[in-house]
Amino acid sequence: MTLNQLQDLIRTMYGAKDGARGMDGTFMWFMEEVGELAGALRGGSHDERVLEFADVLAWLATLANIAGVDLEEAIRAKYGAGCPGCGRSPCICGTVEKP
Ligand SMILES: [Zn+2]
Repeated sequence: MTLNQLQDLIRTMYGAKDGARGMDGTFMWFMEEVGELAGALRGGSHDERVLEFADVLAWLATLANIAGVDLEEAIRAKYGAGCPGCGRSPCICGTVEKP
């Protein structure tokens, strides 16, 4: 599945509800799922982690849909030509730098 297909899937499944809920409410759900992922990474089973990664990615796709952002285009533009910091892949930025 591509990122475009993910966004289409989420839009078809939840687009009407997402539009009604809006950005602020959707962002709260996204952050709640991020918290659940943190819990699963700390103490959950592999199966629980798999589910939480799916939820976080689904809610990220939802936010992108509401904001009118094409995730595939965004990732390609920022990371498609290598690390945004050094332009290389693998990255050769120093460990104190963010990338
Ligand atoms: Zn780099």
